[in-house]
Amino acid sequence: MTYKRQIDRLPIPPKDAKVHNVTCHYCIVGCGYKAYTWDRNKQGTMQDNALGIDLSEQQGADGVWIAPSMYNIVKQDGKDVHLAVIPDHDCVVNSGLGSIRGARMAENRPSTVTGTQQQRLSDPLVWRNGVHQPTSWDDALDLVAQVTARVVTEGSEDDLVVSMFDHGGSAGGYENTWGTGKLYFESMKVKNCRIHNRPAYNSEVHSTRDMGIGELSYQYKDYELTDTIFMVGANSLETQTNLFLNHMVPGMRNGARFIMVDPRRSVTVNAAEEVAGKENVLHLAIKPGSDMALFNAIFTEIVSKGWVDTDFIANSTFQEGVAVAEDEAHPAALGSLEEAMKATNMSLAEAAEICGVSAEDIAKAAAWIAEPKDGERRKCVTAYEKGIIWGNDNYRTIGALVNIALATGNVGREGGGICRLGGHQEGYYRPSDGHVGRPAEYVDQLLINGGGKVHHIWATDHYKTTLNASQFKRVHKKRSDMVKDAMDAAAGGSRADLVDAIVGAVNAGGLFVVDVDIIHSQIGANAHVVLAACEASEMNLTSMNGERRLRLSEKYMDPFGNSRPDCLIAAAVAQNMERVLTDMGNADYAAQFKGYDWETEEDAFMDGYHQGNPDVTYDRLRAMGNNGVLEPVVGFEDGKLIGTEREYSDGKFTRHGREDQKALFCAAGWRGWQAAGKAEEEAKYEFWINNVRANIFWQSQFLDQDNDFIQDRFPYPFIEMNADDMASLGISAGDLIEISNGNGATQGMAYPVETAKPGQVAMVFGSPAGSQGNIVSPGVNELVLPDYKHTWGNIRKLANATPRSKAVSFKSKEYTA
Ligand code: SF4
Repeated sequence: MTYKRQIDRLPIPPKDAKVHNVTCHYCIVGCGYKAYTWDRNKQGTMQDNALGIDLSEQQGADGVWIAPSMYNIVKQDGKDVHLAVIPDHDCVVNSGLGSIRGARMAENRPSTVTGTQQQRLSDPLVWRNGVHQPTSWDDALDLVAQVTARVVTEGSEDDLVVSMFDHGGSAGGYENTWGTGKLYFESMKVKNCRIHNRPAYNSEVHSTRDMGIGELSYQYKDYELTDTIFMVGANSLETQTNLFLNHMVPGMRNGARFIMVDPRRSVTVNAAEEVAGKENVLHLAIKPGSDMALFNAIFTEIVSKGWVDTDFIANSTFQEGVAVAEDEAHPAALGSLEEAMKATNMSLAEAAEICGVSAEDIAKAAAWIAEPKDGERRKCVTAYEKGIIWGNDNYRTIGALVNIALATGNVGREGGGICRLGGHQEGYYRPSDGHVGRPAEYVDQLLINGGGKVHHIWATDHYKTTLNASQFKRVHKKRSDMVKDAMDAAAGGSRADLVDAIVGAVNAGGLFVVDVDIIHSQIGANAHVVLAACEASEMNLTSMNGERRLRLSEKYMDPFGNSRPDCLIAAAVAQNMERVLTDMGNADYAAQFKGYDWETEEDAFMDGYHQGNPDVTYDRLRAMGNNGVLEPVVGFEDGKLIGTEREYSDGKFTRHGREDQKALFCAAGWRGWQAAGKAEEEAKYEFWINNVRANIFWQSQFLDQDNDFIQDRFPYPFIEMNADDMASLGISAGDLIEISNGNGATQGMAYPVETAKPGQVAMVFGSPAGSQGNIVSPGVNELVLPDYKHTWGNIRKLANATPRSKAVSFKSKEYTA
């Protein structure tokens, strides 16, 4: 909105503007904002306004102000109202900081007055007479239920494949994960399901849980109290922006050192150097995929130097050898420190050879993490994310990293912690998923191989976020087209004729696709029914952030058109299933779909999350405001919910469910490339193709497809390259290039970066205009965790820079303080 809209003034929120607590729904940090709404025909004045400040005075950069991107006109109770969404200075998460994503929340709301987000779905769509036609909810839901009920009763629930989010924020939250969870895991027992960003229904961090440690156990303020920040495979300035700025930067200013493990020099490394001084920053730019060897050498060095927390190990970790043997569900054995050391022992020299960094630097990292400081144990916060979660040998690599935190007692301790940094917020509350099994079904391969007959997709776009995407798209479209052709042939007939035609097509290898989303996505083009969902801001939504901070983000505007919250769509699907199954004479099965008489998202919350957490209600959360409460909630006293500052501070570990409450070490033996085909691919192609994120649209890219501000910055997916590599291939800045290998091909814009290493490129992940997943092989670990991070390909120029890419600035993103 700001950009190219020639706005030079904004209306001032009057004193009686309505104020709503809002948690930014884009990234996991979950910054607090205030949404002000007021009548279109009203304004405050310079001195008398809802912000309580004198607006005739210049406000400081860190003051309270409204940028044009924080403003819009939206519908509330059917009326157009002014909207301003501004950062909350009283929220401890962000202390008044916005980010380039969250501070555009208002401009990314749909508005029929200002014209923003006209891509949003307003009504359900049905494939009818060769196009996607708007229709009523009754019509769309009836077709979904008729086909789904026929297929699962004539075959089995294994013929229904479900792709669903498991996160908070955005389309997720406790309300919506409960709605979909109750439908597919309680009313049905669907096992062929997958999560929004990976091809199976599994944890991304199985090993830390199996070791007894949940992946989000610290508080963000631990970064301010620590001696060392040890970051692995993450780029927090771009992807957890206000966690970095509001907690890690103060930590470094308080004297914390900073270690980064990442083959690529990111802007986070540059910013850390500027804040802490180069002498206090250690960037271990390891060879791709060698993280586990590095961690094992650091672990070995720490143990051999005696820098371990002996009391903690004796009292809080398992002592008697192997506790859990390696098997199909556990890609490494778990047990005592001594048992783990038998597998993980690695010298500095050996690790230096594997990782491509010096033995001195590895030793330095070990010292910065664990060497006692002033006679005290050193505090270290370890933070990791996709570099190893989507990396080589997920289970063992994460286990090897957690070993270091366990050996040094940096779990459950002020200024310590071992946590993932996360992408979305969290909001998981579902009936047991035990029937899914471990390892879970590799659902995308199941679909490629002709499995499944009906595919329900919730806020997930495999086109942008799966591996082996080239093949997946070809097959999914072909199978969907079989059903579209059958529907076209049955045009004008009765509902029964249409259902017969669809069932005939799926029995012949087709796939009936139902897509629930807020926009018409790329995989949505294959759908036969599209159900229009709304998102945070248009519904009340509860989620927790990366330090387990639970908030209620309040509804402040109407859902766009006839769109609905996902939880209420799930309820409507269930109610239609009950009706259709009853009509089919299947009363027992129909009865399984009772219990969805929810009128609002709060009803879904009370039916789900509240049942497991009886102290927590909307009213109580509303009263806790933008600071909320840290989960797990353990009580309610004096009008306040009582939370848990830091998990495991009592030295008892429970995430694995073991009665002894002892943490386990992981026998994370190094075995080179783990996923099938990676070593061969590395040998065959010229470039390693890393995938990365960008501050400007991380977690909002799908909403920014038509946003001028974003599209002018990155009109095509960027592919960062070394300048000499570009010269040798005849490529100039902004040229359109293609990456290809045996898995497929993708395209983007050449973006020269001074610090890019020769032979290594970094392509933005999840772009609607070029999927990096096209060139990623199907290789996964034993528990079906995808290794998106490791793919190799050759590069060629497709075309000269277009006028749009010529206008892009390729100035270095690094700064000097
Ligand atoms: S850092 Fe994340 S949560 Fe905070 S404003 Fe930015 S996108 Fe939103």
